[in-house]
Amino acid sequence: MVSRVIPVDPFDLVIFGATGDLALRKILPGLFHRYAVGQVPDNARIIGVARSDMDETMFRAEVQGRLAEFAPRSVQQADRLAQFLDKITYVRADATGDSGWSALRDVLRDDVVRAFYLSVAPALFGAIAANLHAHGIATPDSRIVVEKPFGRDRESACALNADLRQSFDERQIYRIDHYLGKETVQNLMALRFANSLWEPLWNATHIDHVQITVAESLGVEGRGEYYDHVGAMRDMVQNHLMQLLCLTAMEPPSKFEPNSVRDEKVKVIEALEPVAQTDIVRGQYRARGGEGSYREDAGDPKSRTESFVAMKVNIGNWRWAGTPFYLRTGKKLRGRSSEIAVVFRDPPHMIFPKMEGRRGNALIIRLQPDEGIILRNTIKEPGPGGFRLAEVTLDMTFADALDNQSDPQDAYERLIMDVIRGDQTLFMRGDEVEAAWAWADPIIAGWEEANLTPEAYDAGSSGPEDALMLLHRYGRRWREIV
Ligand code: NAP
Repeated sequence: MVSRVIPVDPFDLVIFGATGDLALRKILPGLFHRYAVGQVPDNARIIGVARSDMDETMFRAEVQGRLAEFAPRSVQQADRLAQFLDKITYVRADATGDSGWSALRDVLRDDVVRAFYLSVAPALFGAIAANLHAHGIATPDSRIVVEKPFGRDRESACALNADLRQSFDERQIYRIDHYLGKETVQNLMALRFANSLWEPLWNATHIDHVQITVAESLGVEGRGEYYDHVGAMRDMVQNHLMQLLCLTAMEPPSKFEPNSVRDEKVKVIEALEPVAQTDIVRGQYRARGGEGSYREDAGDPKSRTESFVAMKVNIGNWRWAGTPFYLRTGKKLRGRSSEIAVVFRDPPHMIFPKMEGRRGNALIIRLQPDEGIILRNTIKEPGPGGFRLAEVTLDMTFADALDNQSDPQDAYERLIMDVIRGDQTLFMRGDEVEAAWAWADPIIAGWEEANLTPEAYDAGSSGPEDALMLLHRYGRRWREIV
């Protein structure tokens, strides 16, 4: 299968926070990739904005150095690299100050797509939006992209939404959740809504439960101070795992259009039942085998912040009543793997001899590593020796199945191109974020009130014992984290 690259319209992309980690490690390398494959047109331009005292030449040199690190192929593509760097300029401005805005206005063109990527702390979103508006830089068609975290509870998310909406309409606002830019996540929609095979089975009658796991092998890695005020529930569950749950559980939208898709996602969030504290496990990694503890990494010997959460979530609607969704995420686990496992019910009457260790049918949508989809089936074990059952997998690992994956597109690359195309399907709508916080807030408030210490788990393990029991209690078991 050969990939077709359709160039996007010419654009001016302004990156606020252009000297920061995200811009230099993800956004600019991603843009270079898209330019190298011909998706970013020659007359596109990128304008970096930050407070650092540098000029265009210094900023281009900085970008070139980071591209060598994060887009290594740029080094072998000297011509493309030089042309790419030519598109980049730099404007010095303080988000909260008055200087720099007229210089920014002067470099922007009127006849191209105009987009502002706010790769800065959320506390600056409101000031930047207001300045763009006040200085006549934001036009009715320009787009504004904002990064996570989008609030730390419903109240702060509503305040951020209100700040942005002072200067931009909802149709102009792109709230990024980079999980939605992953190939497999979009494939989940294709799998569900472009095939007739799955829909009749996609309900509580046939699906026993769903497991959504986002396991990280790294700890808080220098983000300890920030993370300690956030924890796994706010950092991962309220946004990334919630998005995966929504796409798995939502009703088929009537159209593949941003608001049709997002309407269905909101309905799922609104159907979530309150989670009993007995159906939640909070964990915190402890030192083991040379690995430091969370408390050491966070720099707080008494920290009660969770680095792991597992929970059983029920969706109170016709399709899913009786089929729980188990969510699990954590740091310093035994592997780095993210997947959605849809586990089907056993046949109602088994005529074959019992198979030791049989796990039954499951559809596994793997986000990382090796993005792909796997279907676990039961067959007769080949060969003589009687009728014994065995499990085999149909493996659709994309890198093997598709020959256009030699240069896979990073989630950020896809999402930035969607911003330029004006397609909001893979971005969170304001009401969606608020609804997700409205679900998460009481859970977090319950923890804060009880002031409990999370259960310790060994660094490099599968998480706390109680997380295993959460499923064992219901006669189920987690898939191995590998
Ligand atoms: P960072 O490395 O601290 O960079 C922050 C950027 O903001 C710098 O370019 C800084 O440049 C600029 N800045 C700070 N104050 C400013 C002001 N008053 N006016 C104008 N520019 C200002 O942060 P980051 O890691 O890139 O993260 C940026 C945003 O993305 C944050 O919201 C973060 O939560 C989110 N995010 C980051 C990642 C990641 O992997 N890094 C992942 C997901 C989400 P000057 O100091 O030169 O002004």
